Amino acid sequence: MKNSMVAAIASLVLLSGVSAHAQSIRITPNGSTPSAIGAPANFSGHVVVDPLFPATDETRATTGLVAFAPGARTAWHTHPAGQLLIVTVGKGWVQEEGQPRREINPGDVVWIPADVKHWHGATDSNGMSHVAVSYMRDGKNVDWMELVTDEQYNAR
Ligand code: MN
Repeated sequence: MKNSMVAAIASLVLLSGVSAHAQSIRITPNGSTPSAIGAPANFSGHVVVDPLFPATDETRATTGLVAFAPGARTAWHTHPAGQLLIVTVGKGWVQEEGQPRREINPGDVVWIPADVKHWHGATDSNGMSHVAVSYMRDGKNVDWMELVTDEQYNAR
């Protein structure tokens, strides 16, 4: 009798705990957020940004699909809490300041640690798209800097 009471109370506690935290799966339908053209202050060349999912208390990161035309790239920038890039299409370059640029291809996953100055974009001959997961710190996920010059972009 006593044991079954304890079990009943325990399952009630468990159930209430579950219901307090349970949330439903959320699907954001394709195309529910309009595409944006990359701002000339932050990107060189033609860049299309598709917001995929916003930062929330749970995701703590914005997720977007970024498509770069050949020759297009970000400006130099840092991320206060890091960034994950998942290359989906094409052929691209990523460069950390003070290091040679590196080639990235579909299926490659690139982790940019917090506060590392860098840029990413297409190669000079092929477009490149990546999913970017940009983690938030104090309400910010990027600090933009100067544009990447053609000389910097073309340096080997
Ligand atoms: Mn970045």
